[in-house]
Amino acid sequence: MKLLYVTRDQVAGKVGLLPIGSLEQHGPHLPMGTDSIIAEWVAQSVEAKFPELVLLFPTLCYGCSLEHTGFPYVGANYISMINFLLDLLESSFKSGLKAVILVNAHGGNESVLDLIVRQHNFTRQGKVYLFSLLKRRAIKLNDLHAGTVESSEIKLLAPWALKEEKVNEVKDYSVKSGVFRTVTVKEANPYGVLNPDGPLIIDQEIGKRELEAAVAELSDLVIKVSGQSA
Ligand SMILES: [Zn+2]
Repeated sequence: MKLLYVTRDQVAGKVGLLPIGSLEQHGPHLPMGTDSIIAEWVAQSVEAKFPELVLLFPTLCYGCSLEHTGFPYVGANYISMINFLLDLLESSFKSGLKAVILVNAHGGNESVLDLIVRQHNFTRQGKVYLFSLLKRRAIKLNDLHAGTVESSEIKLLAPWALKEEKVNEVKDYSVKSGVFRTVTVKEANPYGVLNPDGPLIIDQEIGKRELEAAVAELSDLVIKVSGQSA
């Protein structure tokens, strides 16, 4: 079921799925909402499989994108994100949810979400899980940002938003060391594409394999979590 459309009597006892993405530059060819589109599709697909178990939260499209400074992005700083999400989680458990799974598709959110999970689980009631679409990639390609995997997924999910002809604008696929820590994405690669293996392969089949594997793994987690007491 979807949180936007249920009544108050349908909230308690469910496993909440909160898709989290970003609104940030994804090279010259991919939409700003790439991560949000991917996280939402995976969570929505799992909700469709288990509508009685799952409560699908509206997607959190705003993420932590400070590493994209110098390129367009709309997001929050780390401290705001921590406080905001802890508030969402606290109210979710006060409303009787059994568990909440954060379904994240943006690398810049990862360390913050890991911290939020631990802060919540060790100090408050109810268990929160982090399902990272990046850390459990089925296809082992070196796509750090806006590369082969993300491009192939968007070709499948939102082909009208993919500007494939723009990929030719990318003349250099090298990535400076220190990216995400001491160096911004723009400093690491002026085209904003971090795919150090070289030119992108944009193939719906790659996208399909990756997304189907994610849906299967998230489904397993939902079943496991829903079988446990709150
Ligand atoms: Zn992305």
